[in-house]
Amino acid sequence: MDGGAPGIGTGSGGLSRLLGGASIPASANGVLVADLAALRRNYRKLREAAAPAECAGVVKGDGYGLGAAQVARALAAEGCRTFFVATLGEAAALRPAIGDAALYVLDGLSPGSAPDFAALTTRPVMGDLGEVAEWAAFCAALGMELPSALHVDTGMNRLGLKAAERQAVLAAPARLDGAGIDLLISHLACADTPDNPKSRDQLAQFTAFAAGLPPMRRSLANSAGVLLGSGFHFDLVRPGIALYGGNPYAERANPMEPVVRLYGRILQVGEAAAGETVGYGAAHTLRRATRYATVAVGYADGYLRALGATDARPGAVGAIDGAAVPMLGRVSMDLTVFDVTDLPPETAQRGGFIELIGPQFTVDDAAALAGTIGYEILTGLGPRYTRVYLG
Ligand SMILES: *Cc1c(COP(=O)(O)O)cnc(C)c1O
Repeated sequence: MDGGAPGIGTGSGGLSRLLGGASIPASANGVLVADLAALRRNYRKLREAAAPAECAGVVKGDGYGLGAAQVARALAAEGCRTFFVATLGEAAALRPAIGDAALYVLDGLSPGSAPDFAALTTRPVMGDLGEVAEWAAFCAALGMELPSALHVDTGMNRLGLKAAERQAVLAAPARLDGAGIDLLISHLACADTPDNPKSRDQLAQFTAFAAGLPPMRRSLANSAGVLLGSGFHFDLVRPGIALYGGNPYAERANPMEPVVRLYGRILQVGEAAAGETVGYGAAHTLRRATRYATVAVGYADGYLRALGATDARPGAVGAIDGAAVPMLGRVSMDLTVFDVTDLPPETAQRGGFIELIGPQFTVDDAAALAGTIGYEILTGLGPRYTRVYLG
């Protein structure tokens, strides 16, 4: 922070200034900043890694918590023409933002939903022959084959054609006729650990199955799969987490640029003596006279309770203008407390903000501390945040 300018701990002005003048509503208690320029750079990086394959955007889970419409518009501006969501509800919400781009629903066709897919010009990713038959019958009644995708299970044991159905299809590929299938997909179970032999095995199964079908486009790679190399790219890649700056690897450094920052509003600054405790369960005893800031973000905002501090274990770390402020006590539903003792009093005041996720404490740091993955941190960031888009 340069001389005299307000810092983020002093009011909306400091945060607004940090965000290049973005307006912060006076009512905003939690602020999620999504840097769409960084998202676009991540998309370009993945697209270049996957070329000449097409690079789709996976925007399920409301764009991994960032806002699917804003994310998809940014990707579309970068040339992205194919999107994946999980549910038909997500497809309905997204369609107006993406014009006539191709939109696939990974959950596939629930019984009776074909007319809804057609009304949204949306494509089911079908995972069993019952779905294929229903879509083909719907297309026949319409007198027009509408495009769709077929999901083959190559070892995830989740969605997709199982071994018996694969054999039935290979014995009689005409069973797929009439359903407009123009894309074959499968999903990798272990791409985040690049040395795992399971990916090679899935690749071999995928290639063998595709070879027995009429020619169609093929897609195997999620984010981590893109980074496994060109043998995994086929015609279309489907990155999600890496677009949003999450680490596609389980145990390697994150090659992507961070996209998300999170801020919580300071509601109150208080003081407590050494020996007093903070928060539920009195689980954290102060070792010194402490000045603390209580922030209006909690586990109802996806700021996980597993990030809390106790006497046995430090918790998450926040930041004000680059200075670390450790968490005190457990995360409550709507509130979290931070230790601001070491900061000059004028830098942490009611109405200011503490950075909860950012360069000091990344999405990956939060995931590691909470015993989860960045995907769960991002998709859990709930509806109470004011979402601010940069770029
Ligand atoms: C979620 C998902 C993706 C994207 O995966 P990331 O690991 O986030 O890149 C791709 N394909 C399918 C089938 C998925 O469910």
